[in-house]
Amino acid sequence: MGLKVVKFGGSSLADAAQFRKVAAIVKADPDRHFVVASAPGKRYSNDVKVTDMLYHCFEMVQNRQDITEYYEQICERYNAIIRDLGLNFDITGELEYIRNAIMHHSGRDFAASRGEYLNSLILAKFLGFDFIDAESVVFFRENGSYDDEKTNEELSRELKKHKYAVIPGFYGVMPNGTIKTFSRGGSDITGSIVARAAGAELYENWTDVSGCLMADPRIVKNPKPIKTITYRELRELSYMGASVLHEDAIFPVRYAGIPINIRNTNEPEAPGTMIVSETDEYDSEMIITGIAGKPGFSVLSVEKDMMNSEIGFGRKILDVLEDNDMPFEHLPSGVDTMSVVVGTAYLADRRERILASIQKRVRPDSIVIEDGLALLAVVGRGMVKAKGTAVRVFSAISKADVNIRMIDQGSSELNIIVGVEENDLHRALIAIYDEFAK
Ligand code: ASP
Repeated sequence: MGLKVVKFGGSSLADAAQFRKVAAIVKADPDRHFVVASAPGKRYSNDVKVTDMLYHCFEMVQNRQDITEYYEQICERYNAIIRDLGLNFDITGELEYIRNAIMHHSGRDFAASRGEYLNSLILAKFLGFDFIDAESVVFFRENGSYDDEKTNEELSRELKKHKYAVIPGFYGVMPNGTIKTFSRGGSDITGSIVARAAGAELYENWTDVSGCLMADPRIVKNPKPIKTITYRELRELSYMGASVLHEDAIFPVRYAGIPINIRNTNEPEAPGTMIVSETDEYDSEMIITGIAGKPGFSVLSVEKDMMNSEIGFGRKILDVLEDNDMPFEHLPSGVDTMSVVVGTAYLADRRERILASIQKRVRPDSIVIEDGLALLAVVGRGMVKAKGTAVRVFSAISKADVNIRMIDQGSSELNIIVGVEENDLHRALIAIYDEFAK
């Protein structure tokens, strides 16, 4: 097999016992050359992530509070890991330097990034790998956007100099030398960036679940794991709230055609989920790959006789939304009605303004906004080939005594989107899961 880049999330590196599991995984396969590490995450459910503690320190300084005592807890998280691993490694100087920097207003992102920095130093020492600071290989532009070309060039060059190395996730550097982080969960992005720059054959993303599941385990009991999912399917499911990976982590590897394997540090023998590009020939065993849903949508319905022959009608309505900085999700339309599904939260104080503007621009016969809609996405590349999938989805929903308020099937036949009352969402989701997965 070819080179692998492996990323370990915060719970996989939360304490010494987890570090040992990580080392066993890395050492089990000599192809695992580059390791991207998160900051120590939660050791138990009401524990606090080191990243959150660092943000807290930053805020304390902003409020002119003394961080000495609080910061001690962060030092202890790291020192306990070093001690319990039996490492001969002294990071007192580093910890001291970081505390001073935070106290002297070194910046919110700098403070947060130190979680990954310190954890990666320790992991590199424990594994006997080189340490490459993300600060010297991950670049942001002046406007704060991630500079993919520069990073790819410099990072590729640097990686060639190392056989085995650990790189901290989550952060990079601005043109003026200050540290900048990605958004929360951003170590996934670093992993993907490193995989691309290394020309990896596989990007393994190790976390605390055995891959993507067919449905949310808080709604469906013991949902089946997904063996293989395409980037596009994953995108559809994550949009609906199913999240295993930072959304932006997909782009670098997708671009380079590198598959992602989601794995479980606590169950390393499980194969996890393979995320592949559409062109790869993986057989979908199931018609449905996954189901996800989320509440919080509203339908704006505009009715006007002869609307379908009025040129520019739809554009004018969308113009009004655009003028109000309002994104929309779906556009299911009839002959004389046009409906726009939008996020209820976005409507907030724009509701009256939008209604008035549409009234003025298209003079409709009626216009209403109905709240309380949940959207449910049934996603599966297998649907293109299978006949009768829609019938099975709708009859499962109807057997569960749920009323369907909207249907939208993309012409790609990758998904069927159904709108139901928010209160019916869980019932509908379970019914569809049972129909296809049981
Ligand atoms: N430590 C950062 C966070 O908690 C980044 C990451 O873990 O991916 O968001």
